Formats: sequence, structure tokens, C-alpha cells
Amino acid sequence: MITIHSLGFPRIGKKRELKFALEKFWRGDITQQQLEQTGRQLRQQNWREQSALDLAPVGDFSFYDQILDASFLFGNHPARVRDLGGDDLANYFRVARGRAHTHEHECACVQAGEMTKWFDTNYHYIVPEFSADTRFNLHADALLEQVREAQAAGVVAKPVLVGPVTYLWLGKSQDHSDRLTLLEPLLAVYLQLLSKLAAAGVEWVQIDEPILVTELDASWRQALNHACHQLKSAPLKLLLATYFGELQENLQLACELPVDGLHIDAINGRDEVARIADWLPGHKVLSVGVINGRNIWKTDLTATLVWLEPLHQRLGQRLWLAPSCSLLHVPVDLASEQKLDDEIKQWLAFAVQKLDELRILATALNEGRAAVADELAQNAAAVNSRRQSGRIHRPAVKQRVAEITAAMGQRLAPYAERSKQQRNKFRLPLYPTTTIGSFPQTAEIRKARRDYRVGELGADDYRRIMRDEIAHCVHQQEALGLDVLVHGEPERNDMVEYFGEQLDGYAFSQHGWVQSYGSRCVKPPILFGDISRPRAMTVDWISWARSLTDKPMKGMLTGPATMLNWSFVRDDQPRSQTCLQLSLAIRDEVLDLEKAGIDMIQIDEAALREGLPLRRSQWQDYLDWAIQAFRISANGVRNDTQIHTHMCYSEFNDIMPAIADMDADVITIETSRSNMELLAAFEAFEYPNEIGPGVYDIHSPNIPDVDAIVALMKKAAEHIPPERLWVNPDCGLKTRNWEEVLPALTNMVTASRILAQDLAEAV
Ligand code: GLN
Ligand code: ZN
Repeated sequence: MITIHSLGFPRIGKKRELKFALEKFWRGDITQQQLEQTGRQLRQQNWREQSALDLAPVGDFSFYDQILDASFLFGNHPARVRDLGGDDLANYFRVARGRAHTHEHECACVQAGEMTKWFDTNYHYIVPEFSADTRFNLHADALLEQVREAQAAGVVAKPVLVGPVTYLWLGKSQDHSDRLTLLEPLLAVYLQLLSKLAAAGVEWVQIDEPILVTELDASWRQALNHACHQLKSAPLKLLLATYFGELQENLQLACELPVDGLHIDAINGRDEVARIADWLPGHKVLSVGVINGRNIWKTDLTATLVWLEPLHQRLGQRLWLAPSCSLLHVPVDLASEQKLDDEIKQWLAFAVQKLDELRILATALNEGRAAVADELAQNAAAVNSRRQSGRIHRPAVKQRVAEITAAMGQRLAPYAERSKQQRNKFRLPLYPTTTIGSFPQTAEIRKARRDYRVGELGADDYRRIMRDEIAHCVHQQEALGLDVLVHGEPERNDMVEYFGEQLDGYAFSQHGWVQSYGSRCVKPPILFGDISRPRAMTVDWISWARSLTDKPMKGMLTGPATMLNWSFVRDDQPRSQTCLQLSLAIRDEVLDLEKAGIDMIQIDEAALREGLPLRRSQWQDYLDWAIQAFRISANGVRNDTQIHTHMCYSEFNDIMPAIADMDADVITIETSRSNMELLAAFEAFEYPNEIGPGVYDIHSPNIPDVDAIVALMKKAAEHIPPERLWVNPDCGLKTRNWEEVLPALTNMVTASRILAQDLAEAV
């Protein structure tokens, strides 16, 4: 019989129960016991959903993040929380978010741990902190308790642990000591843990080493080898799990590591399966991840069986089946969706449905396809409907993409020439000031949007409220003395969803939430078909804003790569094709804005960097089409229309040529925390166009003072000629309130005037 298992289940709950319980607990509205009770209920519920599995994951649940859990499991909490008092959970939340409770006294607050993206997903983990003095000791009670809970719930518990080498690789050394010197003491703790798990009746433990799908140097490969050799003495069986990509040059290493089984991602690495089956020693289990754990499409079960059946013949009992990776990255249950239309709904599978697909595949392999004939037929019908649907395939869209020419991505004149025309036209002062787009989203605005959505507010009233808010934003900006204004984005719930809702080819779920970090969840829109823009999306709002002022009004759009990277994207054509379709829709909007007299247009590419593949050797390919898509969106305009772009991060060193290739007239970036050091990359590259390095950290309630802004901009001017510098915040202001924003922007404008005057006096 074939074994089926899963690498992890979404922990937030069907109705985001975990999110709400956490936020209540932080506010002091529920007790720790109540929070823990919610945790237990969610785990029970999750194991019930997974009852058809032969092995169910344990340790995949977390109150914030599984890597932070691992840090506490190994006794590696940062020294700064050790003497603060309170129990483990209080310290856990201090590392996660700086404080145990929202109202915690200042002296019990600490700097939160750094948070960063989990491989190429949109999930964020808390970066483990190491130093030469790091000592590990085991705190296994919580995990052992969950093993007992799972066993009591009647499932066969398979604990999932981040592997020791990946754990070190994900962390940062605070004193630049070599993290790998910690491997030996860390392995000692793993061995203690494995013994305890064995004593608790556990037979299999899953050890995740996803770094095997990245480019590793010899010391990390050696560390993997060494770790597995040490751990093999544990009195239980180890399943080494990799996911998110192909093994490539690490394939042989992965096959030879002395463990009892290997899990691989056959969604990304399907072509490697046969070679792995060849290489893998005869006593090892091969767990094949055949269901996509990162996307929401139904699996083509018959097509999967066609290649699985011979593999099953060959491996017999040694073949296990699973989703490609943890289901953390997909929503919980499609059955919760009441509003998706039936045609689209039948194409989808969320976590619960994915596990059912696994059960059907296993039954077909064990008992023959006839045993699940009805289910296979239903699946085939759904898969066919998706393949042929006229809502997905629209020849006119494909035709337009096929007809894209190089000239469409090319501005009429080079920047040097454009900039002269733009300077003549706009006559901006030195160090011009602007913002990144959104202004504070007050409770009233959110309520108006919500009421309009559910039909409690009529279209005319909605329009009036939004227009009033836009007018308010414009007047505030004029009073502040900003040079380039924005309309403030009150009509937008989210920078991707807002555009997705107006494009053909997108659908939306009601409950399709996935965890982004801690209690924060996102609901990525579903990009299911060929993309087109039935009508202008922003022209009305922005024209209204423009009619209220004589200052330049910057139109505000989201770029193609960001739309792509923050959606669930169709898997039936290359992402590059989908991105080009998006780029044409945005190009149409840009040209409509220009026609309506909007002569500055910002196209946000907040998530451009996120799309970079895990392997550097594949970066260029991605950058080639993502940048081409941006250029097609942006570059159809006249010379004297100024294109801005914005990116909310600060690492550009390694993608500088691509950024320059976008050829935006102005780029605004996040820099206030990094003290302008990253501008060195722009300087070294001799970046030719204009830059607005952020001087106001919008992630913090703090208000930057004039001197600090002047000092930051003076540093910037050491790297970039001042006549090409803009002054602006790091990112949009929508999460801040007006009481914070007004003084911060006042200081920003004052600073800009001081800078401009200093410069004028200097010449
Ligand atoms: N224009 C968007 C805003 O200001 C940009 C958001 C972002 O970069 N994440 O909100
Ligand atoms: Zn941003």
C-alpha cells in the first residue's frame, strides 16, 4: 500500500480564528488560556481534516512562525528578552513583534526580530540570531505535548522540523562569526529531541532542508552531509524534505544523504523524478510531491497517474505521495466560498481539496483507476472545462501579445533629452517633494468602501464620498506645499486587488486567506484567464484630483510584475506570457491617463524583486521579461510625460542594470532606515535618471525632524547629483493617520526648502 502524508497544514483556520484570537490576546481581551485553547481547537480541526492521511504533520502549527518556534525549541532566544520576566509566550511575542501585549510597559519592549521572506514565497519568518556565544538547549515540552494531542486525536504523528543546516542558513550571525561552527552543538540538541520523540512513540520525523534547491557552496553541502550522518543514529526514521524547486547539482547529494526517505517537489522538479528514482538507494522511501502546495488549481489526476503508475510499479511500497510543500501557502477550504461562480470554482482546490486529491491518487494506485472511476471522471471534466473555457482563452488577447514590438518598450527620446523637455514643462524647484500615492485610510473611508461593496451605499453617494476625500487630500497637499501631488488612493482596498477587480481574467475569493506573517493574512486575487481591460480604471478619479489644483498631479498604477507576484497565477502558460498580458492592460491605462492630461504617471513595482527565482542562474531570464513588461506598460508616452516608479525595499546592488533598464524618469525607493548607504549602488552604477530616496519611515509612528531629513538628503547628495534628487517618504501613507502624516510632511517640505536654498547659495 502506498503511504500518503502532508508536509504541513494552514494554521490560521477557515475563518482566520488564529488571527482574531492572537489580536484579542495582544489587546488583553482574552487570556493566555483562551489563546491556547484556540490553538488546541485549530490543531484538532486540522488533524480531522487530515484524517485520510497515513501520517499527519505535527509541529506545523504555530502562534506566529515555525522558525521562531524552532528558535525557542532549541533555546536560542535572543539575549535581550532573557531577563524581561514573563513566561516563554511573552518572550516569544517580544521577539516576534517587539512586545508581549499591545499595552506593555515601554521597559518590557524590545527590538523585534528581523523578519524576512521564506524562500520565494510571500510568507515571512523571524530570522534566527546567532553569535559565537550561542548555546543551544532543548525545550521540547510544547512539541511533545502536540505529539500526544495528535496521537489522542487518532492520527499517526509525523513531527516536522526545520533541518539543522537550513536553520543555520536562514539565520544571521550578529558578530560575523561563522554559523557553521554552531552545527555540532545544534546537532547534539536535535539528537536529544529525536530520542524524546522516539520515546513518545514517533516512527517518522520530517526534516526540512529546502536549501537543497538553492546554489550551495562546498561548506554548506558538507554540512548537510555531516548533519545527516550524525542524525542517523537517532532511534527513529528520518524523511528529508526539499521543496520549492529542482535539486539540479544537489541531486546526487540529496539521494546519497544517509536518511530513510527523501521528499522532493515534483511540481517544480518533475523532470528530475526519474533520475532520483535511479539514484536513490533501494532501502529508501521516495516521497513525491505531486500536488501543488503553492497554487490553487485542481491537479490533473489522470495525467498525474500516467506518470505515477510506472513509478509505482518500480518502487512499490517505497513510493509515498504528498503535496509538493506545506499547504501553509494556500487557503484552507474551497467549500467556504459562496460567491465564486461555479465554472471557476470547479477549477480550484484549496488545502482540504488538495488532500482529497491525494487520497484519490493513492486509491487509484493501490486498487486501480476503476476504484475511483467517478472521481477521476469528475476531475477530468473539470480539468477539461478549464482547458477549453472561453473565459480563459481569448484569441484577441493572445494576438495582441504576439504583436508586441520592441518599439513599444522604447521611449521616443533618451532620458537626457526627455529630462530637458520635462524640466521646461514642470519647472519644479530643486529637491522637489512628493509622496508615494496613498494617504491615511480612515475608518470612514473603509466603511464607505465596504458599504458600497455590500450594496448598502449607492453608487452616487459612494462617488461623492470618495471625491470629497480626494479633494481633502489635494487641499492638504497644497497647504503643505508639496510640489507634485497625488489623489490619495481612498478608493483602493489594495494596490493589486483594486486593479484585478477591474480587469477581465481575474476572480476573487471571500475567504481565500493565506498567512503572510504572524496574524497578518493576505487574500491574493485569482488570475485565471487572458487579461484585458474593458474600460479605464483610474482616469475618472485622477482627472477629478487634477481639476482641483494647478500643481502637477501624479497618476498612480500598479505594475505588471507586482500584479503577477501578488496573485494566484494560472499555471497553464508561462508566467512571462501572463505578465505581458498585464503589461498591455496597464499600457492602455497609461495612455488613457496621458490623453486625459495627466502628465506624470507612477507605476508601482513594489514586488518586482520578489519574483526573483531562488537560483541566481535563473535571475536574468526573469528580469528580462519582467523589465520588458514594465517598459511596455510605461514607455508608450510622449517625451514630456514623466514616468515614475516605486519600489519598497532597498537592495538594488545585484539588480542595478535591470532597474536602470526600466528607464523610468524618476524612481522612489525605501531608504530612510539604511541611512542612504544603498545609494552607493546607484552611484557605482552611474544610474542616469532621477531618484527619490525615502526620508520618512512610514512603518513607524515616529515623526522625522527637519534636521534628520536634511542630513539624510545631504548623504544622498554625496552619491547622486542634487539636481536629480527628489524628497519623499519611503512608501505610501495609508497605514498611518493624519496626525502623524501632517507634521512629518511639513518637516519634509521644510527640509527640501533648506536644501534647495543651501544649494542655490553654494553655486
Ligand atoms: N502607491 C502605493 C501606495 O502609496 C504604493 C504601495 C507600495 O509600494 N506598497 O500605497
Ligand atoms: Zn512601497
